[in-house]
Amino acid sequence: MNKIRRATVLAGAGFLACASLPGHSALPETYVSPWKTPWDYEGARGADHWSELDPAYAPCNEGREQSPIDIRDAQPTDLPDLRFVFRDAPLRYVTNNGHTIRVNYPAGNGNLLLVEGRRYELLQFHFHRPSEHTVSGTRYDMEAHLMYRTTEGQVAGVNVFIKSGQSNPTIERVWQHMPPTEGQNHVAGVDLDPGGLLPRDPHGYYSYPGSLTAPPCTEAAMFVLKNPVEATTEQIAAFARLYPHDVRAVQPLYGRVVRESR
Ligand SMILES: [Zn+2]
Repeated sequence: MNKIRRATVLAGAGFLACASLPGHSALPETYVSPWKTPWDYEGARGADHWSELDPAYAPCNEGREQSPIDIRDAQPTDLPDLRFVFRDAPLRYVTNNGHTIRVNYPAGNGNLLLVEGRRYELLQFHFHRPSEHTVSGTRYDMEAHLMYRTTEGQVAGVNVFIKSGQSNPTIERVWQHMPPTEGQNHVAGVDLDPGGLLPRDPHGYYSYPGSLTAPPCTEAAMFVLKNPVEATTEQIAAFARLYPHDVRAVQPLYGRVVRESR
């Protein structure tokens, strides 16, 4: 891990130089909602109605490979290692999108997930409280979602459980700049390593065909890390004051097999 951290710092220094060039970042300077059609977790625009709100949301209630799920009876399999590349780089914006706290990444950010011959790049990460996935019915305090995409448009989610314990420095830095209401805060002079959202040993994982857990519920390869990370009760409470329950119900498996790395 130390070696990876050192490599990460060097890469970050290069990124800092590039980021100072005008026009490098594709991130919008003013807040833009990620959704053209508003939705909620409950009520008339709630999860039972997402498909009715916008044709683009059709997979939400019609798809048969939706997330989250309750993970149980996973099939032990020789799964490939998830290979991660993370870069410690300037944090530009922290977004409150009305449903969660999110950090977006511009194209070419160099944070990668390499698995099954595919090269995914980090698009954004965000949080849910409590966890959306459950393991044999057990829910964790929170869950971080790192969302990735290949240049061909294939989406993958790396889902990390969060339990109360030690302070998480990456979460702390994001929380220090999170807007209390929908919008985005501009940040200056703060470096952030998204790799700080991963457990020390990120190798054990569950894998299944799933989806984004919010509209448009796009189908995606889902990886759920077995080892959780920790955050303090204060860090968890700070998120809960904004979003006490940003969670979609667990979805039927419809015959899907959940695999588990040996
Ligand atoms: Zn999510």
